[in-house]
Amino acid sequence: MTHEEIRHALGSGCSEEELKAMRCPVCEGNVVFYVHPKRRSCFIRCQQDNGHMAMHEENPLPPDWWEKYVTQGGWMS
Ligand SMILES: [Zn+2]
Repeated sequence: MTHEEIRHALGSGCSEEELKAMRCPVCEGNVVFYVHPKRRSCFIRCQQDNGHMAMHEENPLPPDWWEKYVTQGGWMS
C-alpha cells in the first residue's frame, strides 16, 4: 500500500486485519499504530524510521477495534 492508500484505509474505517497487514511503504517493515484517547484520530508510523512514514488520520466514525490501540501518552499537541 502507498501512503495515500494507508491514509484512506484508516480514514474510512478498515478492519483490524487490514491494519495488521500494513507495511511501511518505503522499507516494508512493521508499522506502529496508536489511537488518541478521544478515539477520533490515529497515528501510524514506520517502526524503523519516522522519515519513511509518520502520519495522522481522522476518522469521525472510528471502528470498535480502535479502542485496543488507545494510547494515553506520546501525543504531540
Ligand atoms: Zn520504513
